Amino acid sequence: MIQNEIDQIQINITKPECEYYDVMGGSHRHEVKVHDHGSVALVDCMPRLAPVGQTADFSIVQAARVSYGAGTKKVSEDKGLIRYLFRHQHTSPFEMVEFKFHCVMPVFIARQWIRHRTANVNEYSARYSVMPDKFYHPKVEDVRKQSASNRQGGEEQLETKTAEEFLAYLDQVESSYKTYNELLDKGLSRELGRIGLPVSVYTEWYWKIDLHNLFHFLKLRMDSHSQKEIRDYANTIFALIRKIVPVACEAFMDYSYESIKLTRLEIEAIQTGKPLNTTNKRETDEWEQKRKLLNIPAPVVPQTNTTTTPPTESK
Ligand SMILES: Cc1cc2nc3c(=O)[nH]c(=O)nc-3n(C[C@H](O)[C@H](O)[C@H](O)COP(=O)(O)OP(=O)(O)OC[C@H]3O[C@@H](n4cnc5c(N)ncnc54)[C@H](O)[C@@H]3O)c2cc1C
Repeated sequence: MIQNEIDQIQINITKPECEYYDVMGGSHRHEVKVHDHGSVALVDCMPRLAPVGQTADFSIVQAARVSYGAGTKKVSEDKGLIRYLFRHQHTSPFEMVEFKFHCVMPVFIARQWIRHRTANVNEYSARYSVMPDKFYHPKVEDVRKQSASNRQGGEEQLETKTAEEFLAYLDQVESSYKTYNELLDKGLSRELGRIGLPVSVYTEWYWKIDLHNLFHFLKLRMDSHSQKEIRDYANTIFALIRKIVPVACEAFMDYSYESIKLTRLEIEAIQTGKPLNTTNKRETDEWEQKRKLLNIPAPVVPQTNTTTTPPTESK
């Protein structure tokens, strides 16, 4: 019965008013290698077709015009509209663009990545399949020293001798793969066998996300506070999408990634020329960084007089 009703529904297929092209150039995979065994491949996107002479950015404008009404159709004004939407955080039009990636990365990076809950994910299952014999093994020049200023990070290169010791330790850990394989051959379940493997082992997933949430991910993971290894993946993703939505990506750089947020206390410090009105050291340090970047002169702190002048005797 319901089948009949559905069969009666008439679908009108409209011919496009202008010529459209495939924004991925007819390819099903735009791939970039990352590190030793990793990669990011853009495998699909929405919109996949764009009017000739425009980029997939057109889809953001199309969605925005539903709320703003039909405006002028000039590309330059479309750019202005996208930049306005970004500046004023009118985010929903950016959700109309979507990207699907196939990503191959070590488990320790996947753990950071998966914290971004607004994507759709399908990961390789180590319960169904044998984990590959692939491990993230940095080059000696990529082994970093623990940062003194950032407890979560490493910045400078570690001296060669200790770096080599670390790499020898990784060799030893990776050799456990042989035992993993032997035990699977003896009948151990894959779901338990995997638990002895290190977090440097590679996994992979399909990851689909809309542009608004992708920009949120990129803002956090392209940032210098993020671990270098995930930053390399985030930078790669940005390079892949910039070709598809260049106008939105430029707005992201201008108004998000390379912008600075000022707090009320910081605005007050600029207006009054006084030091930041707080005793919190971290907040003061953050303000110092911004002040230097913005070339704002240091406040003149009144000198406290430490030399005691003897009181003049009254005559
Ligand atoms: C440099 C760095 C260091 C970090 N260190 C740590 C750490 O030490 N320990 C740790 O546990 N995590 C750490 N994280 C992870 C961090 O706390 C976030 O979990 C992660 O960055 C994802 O951010 P998000 O929740 O904003 O993103 P998404 O999950 O992508 O969400 C995007 C936005 O959607 C909204 N949203 C999504 N889901 C919900 C929800 N359920 N409820 C309400 N709002 C929602 C929020 O506004 C959120 O900002 C770190 C992240 C970075 C970048």
